[in-house]
Amino acid sequence: MISLDGFGVEHWALAVRCAGAILAYLSATQKTSLGHIVRLAPYHIESYMVLDAATRRNLELTQTLRTHDRHGSLLWVLDRTKTAMGARLLRQWLEQPLLEQEPVERRLDAVARLCDDHIVRPELGRLLKEVYDIPRLISRVALSQANARDLLALARSLRRLPAIRDCVAQLPKTAYIEEILSKLDPCDDAADSIEAAIAENPPVGLNEGGLIKPGYNREVDELRAARSSGQAWVAELERQERERTGIKSLKVGFNKVFGYYIEVTKANLAAIPTEYERKQTLANAERFITPELKAQEAKILGADERVIELEYQLFTQLRAQVAEHAPRIQTVARALAELDVLRSLAEVAVENHYVRPTLNHAGRLNVKAGRHPVVEAVLIDERFTPNDILMDAKERQIMVLTGPNMAGKSTYLRQTALIVLMAHIGSFVPAESADIPLVDRIFTRVGASDDLATGQSTFMVEMNEVANILNNATARSLVILDEVGRGTSTFDGLSIAWAVTEYLHNKTGCQPLTLFATHYHELTELAGKLPRVHNCSVAVKEENGQVVFLRRIVPGGTDRSYGIEVARLAGLPYKVIQTARRILAQLESSEHIRMELNDVDSRETRGRTTTSSQAARLRLAQVPLFSISNEPEPLLEQLAQLDAESITPREAINLLFDLRDKAQERLKEMNNGEEVAG
Ligand code: ADP
Ligand code: MG
Repeated sequence: MISLDGFGVEHWALAVRCAGAILAYLSATQKTSLGHIVRLAPYHIESYMVLDAATRRNLELTQTLRTHDRHGSLLWVLDRTKTAMGARLLRQWLEQPLLEQEPVERRLDAVARLCDDHIVRPELGRLLKEVYDIPRLISRVALSQANARDLLALARSLRRLPAIRDCVAQLPKTAYIEEILSKLDPCDDAADSIEAAIAENPPVGLNEGGLIKPGYNREVDELRAARSSGQAWVAELERQERERTGIKSLKVGFNKVFGYYIEVTKANLAAIPTEYERKQTLANAERFITPELKAQEAKILGADERVIELEYQLFTQLRAQVAEHAPRIQTVARALAELDVLRSLAEVAVENHYVRPTLNHAGRLNVKAGRHPVVEAVLIDERFTPNDILMDAKERQIMVLTGPNMAGKSTYLRQTALIVLMAHIGSFVPAESADIPLVDRIFTRVGASDDLATGQSTFMVEMNEVANILNNATARSLVILDEVGRGTSTFDGLSIAWAVTEYLHNKTGCQPLTLFATHYHELTELAGKLPRVHNCSVAVKEENGQVVFLRRIVPGGTDRSYGIEVARLAGLPYKVIQTARRILAQLESSEHIRMELNDVDSRETRGRTTTSSQAARLRLAQVPLFSISNEPEPLLEQLAQLDAESITPREAINLLFDLRDKAQERLKEMNNGEEVAG
């Protein structure tokens, strides 16, 4: 190759040098031709959405969290590809969503055309199914690893192209469809030369002959004719010699060591002709040869050896010749893979009733009747309940989603992330309508105890990942926080959750669209303090003291956790449930334990709150011996002023009684609840 300019890398001196270093490394380590590497494609990271490892895992893009199965992943739902290269490309699209509107719309246009045409779509599926893994075949060709069957598979795949082209040509044109069409070069010359040379059913190995079609090469034909006339002579010999000697059991055979021989049983040895030369003695037979037999043997074996060698030569010549078409064939393969993926996306969209999303630059997320693509596919006896979502950067940046365990919070969060992600790969989405903001990244974090499956569910990991989000999210990101802060004590967790939300709301340049699911219903109070935070909750109905999950997301927060009801549904013994209810009632009536975020806040040093002091305040609330207030506690004051050095025993005992009375009084006040706080 003389110039690399055709690859759009003329201004990328460093990148070209790196690519060169990689090639040098490959040629040094692989010790084979790198002829199949024919293209240098610039990869712009700014064209693809970065999905960190935790997000990939949490969204179960290509495998499930728990079992690492493909079944149950987004890929499992979306993959209706018919070719191996299509399947690989779909996975790549899924893992590298696009960032720009134009290329996304280009894909969506093509998917839309394929959705609309109920004849072309299935027909294309049938045709693509007959196409083998062309990129793999062509790289085997280039690496001189392909056998005759590989070449035939390649030719047969290329032969599908005219029909595939006709099919695609029937679709209404879009820019993408036209581009694919222009790349579907059937490479007839390559297919012709393979089909002219390779036999119908060639063996796997290359050293046993049978590779080349009759009529392709005169010398091969002649050698084969010589071989078979020799073989015919030998076959005839057995009949002749039986007749001549009268030995009915006389046999002509062949083995690798002695070649052709005539075998006569010991009982018949008396009848053998004199020209037979003894060659080998067996337990009850003798083997002989004759000069004529040896002459024919030489002819057969010579021809055989020669034809095998010649066929091998012809085959490798052909393979090298096909290898020269590698760049063209790879272009075709790429176009077929794209077509396969687009067709797959269209098929899934039609079958699952997805809609084409619209994209906006306004940070507006407006989905009507959205569904979770995977959960709806695996639900058997329950119907999936669709839900809307409306968020935007200016007024509804952060949603705090509350509701009991098992209500459907995580599902709603993931479904939102998946719908946004699917839109960015050019897929239709599971909803009645969807207006999707173009995002630069999707972050997800699932609280430690929701994430046990990964085996590294330490609180530290959780916090690392939250730190990653807080440091990297921008105003164009989508952030999904599911029960973050759960991996530690309630008060710690709540404080962290609170502080994180406040940060995402207030930090200039950050402020991503954020969905925060939590069973800490206390967090709903944030909506009253931060203008762009709003509450939603998952509706539950209480029937005869039992919780019924409605799976519907409604505006407003919950004020209860329903944990005990969920525990009851899970089958905890009745006695345990009863005890839990009693203890809950006691706790709720006791002001010690109640978290009064509101009150803590209003008593705080007038207004200015920083996230770290917020956490510190909540920490104090875990030791509610003295309430936190701007007014100094009288008890504290009294103790602080005490002159402990000079106090007499009598004064001390009096003071102790005094303090006890005051403390009792104070406790009584606190138990009276709200009024104290005001
Ligand atoms: P949470 O996060 O609130 O504990 P999940 O999102 O894990 O709850 O949901 C619990 C189960 O409820 C899911 O496994 C799913 O089967 C079911 N579910 C959730 N959302 C829906 C829905 N919209 N329609 C039907 N079933 C749902
Ligand atoms: Mg959950």
